[in-house]
Amino acid sequence: MTENILVSIAWPYANADIHVGNIVGSHLPGDIFARYHRLKGNRVLVVSGSDAHGTPITVRADAEGRSAEAVYTHFHRRFLELFKQVGITYDLFTSTHTENHFKVSQDIFLALKANGYLFTQTEPQWYSPTEKRFLPDRYVEGACYICGFANARSDQCDKCGNVLEPAKLINPRAKTSGGALELRDTEHFYLDLAKLAPTLSRYLNADKEHWRPQVINPSRAQADSGELRGRAITRDLDWGIPVPVEGWAERGKCLYVWFEAVIGYFSASIEWSKINGKPDAWKDWWYDPTAKTVYFIGKDNTQFHAVFWPAELIGVGPLYEDDPAKSLNLPYDVPANEFLNLEGQKISGSRNWAVWGFDFLSRYDADALRYYLTAILPESKDADWDWAEFVQHNNNELVATWGNLANRVLTFAYKHWEGRVPETGELRPQDKELIANIDDGFKTVGELIEAVKLRAALGEVVSLATEANRYLDAQGPWFEIKKDKAETAKTVYTALRVIDSLKTLFAPFAPFTSQKLHEYLGHDGSLFGAQKIITVPDAQGQHDALTYDGSGAVGKWQPSELKPGQALRQPQPLFKKLEEKIVEEERGRLGKVSG
Ligand SMILES: [Zn+2]
Repeated sequence: MTENILVSIAWPYANADIHVGNIVGSHLPGDIFARYHRLKGNRVLVVSGSDAHGTPITVRADAEGRSAEAVYTHFHRRFLELFKQVGITYDLFTSTHTENHFKVSQDIFLALKANGYLFTQTEPQWYSPTEKRFLPDRYVEGACYICGFANARSDQCDKCGNVLEPAKLINPRAKTSGGALELRDTEHFYLDLAKLAPTLSRYLNADKEHWRPQVINPSRAQADSGELRGRAITRDLDWGIPVPVEGWAERGKCLYVWFEAVIGYFSASIEWSKINGKPDAWKDWWYDPTAKTVYFIGKDNTQFHAVFWPAELIGVGPLYEDDPAKSLNLPYDVPANEFLNLEGQKISGSRNWAVWGFDFLSRYDADALRYYLTAILPESKDADWDWAEFVQHNNNELVATWGNLANRVLTFAYKHWEGRVPETGELRPQDKELIANIDDGFKTVGELIEAVKLRAALGEVVSLATEANRYLDAQGPWFEIKKDKAETAKTVYTALRVIDSLKTLFAPFAPFTSQKLHEYLGHDGSLFGAQKIITVPDAQGQHDALTYDGSGAVGKWQPSELKPGQALRQPQPLFKKLEEKIVEEERGRLGKVSG
């Protein structure tokens, strides 16, 4: 049965370039999951976009004397290009600064208001008399009132990870001017989480056995605690989506970025449908109760996706839908990842303690990146990028175990069977046994990917490649051929067929090299579809977006049916062996801040 799978990937703030921590936290696992389901023949929709609003953008714009729009546009374009090069196959990677997203966010706000889930409240907020404005959370820094960390942001502490109440901050100061601050009253809309808590609690307590414990346990505890209160969904900021209530936009109020950014999964699905000329297509993922919506995020975003976003969806009711009995799909799974560190330290863009996506790709291949990041995916605990370990994984697994297996068999077949897959008689028991074991991988690896155990799934594929190597070592076709070419043909056919299956098993993780191998094996067509950057005009101006066209893809999640006699293509090595000296070179690049 074909399933509808929505792959929702965290929206990165368009205020800095993407580094390997961002890629491993959400984009890459989402892409692996999506590619697998596409190969399975499921209907997959992968959406995300740049978070264009909010103070991370305006803080940078103020510091550089540029407009927020200029900052967002600059980084957004670089995101699109990087995701294309790393092969993150977004059906639509758009942005929150679009006419469509403005309208959908405002409609959701109004639906929540009409359904009685919003209230207004006046609260004290930090005001800068020198700047003559209320300062949003990230403009205010001070000491954390929970752990004492001296440089906490007023809305969240980077040391203890707690979400903070800004007014409780100790020794607050303005990040922009450093000046003294005072608390002044300001009115805002609040999402009534207390009212939504009973339904939210029922949702989080039903059928969640497949959720990661570090995601479901705190979320359930929060919903069940009886302590969920209103949470502000508007703020005093002039860069963002105007509050759609008379008089509010005039007072400089915008929708709070946490509230509108999560709406992006929904609005991007709608935008994708419009771009493809099927305006209601999104309903297959949002109203079909059998559809699965899976959210790939970092752990710092857990409560926004496992608590607040479901609460928004529950409160909205059936939006853009005539049937009042229908409801929007709540997250099927939120496989949040822990953090990736770098050489034992926390990744920091500002200190250049980071491995940047473009910089990496200027020296190494995308599949080497994808492979290493998957091998160390922080699914259950924090992981560490270590350059020596990167070289080891690349050389021992990608090059020695997988690349050499494919290359030496293809080269051998190409040379001794005139560039064709050998014809064989009845295969021997050991040949059939290997083929059966590798074919079983489609079930075991598939189940691991569906359970979002991607690290274990990749480990299983590598162990299957190791098994194929053991078979080759035992058969020794390089010597066998001198005695009996007919028997050697069975070995080589078996190995090629197994390599053809492994190509597909590796494809979600290392799609670029699997495609090359697909061609060396003599097949035509592309395993996956094509990525393209397009420009979409709208009332906000225009925006660029990354899209995916899977209509021509030929890849299928099933064992090889390689035909004897099929013409091969001249093989080339799939992976590059790396020299040990790059470890010190790369470590030497860390922490150096230029110009
Ligand atoms: Zn703290």
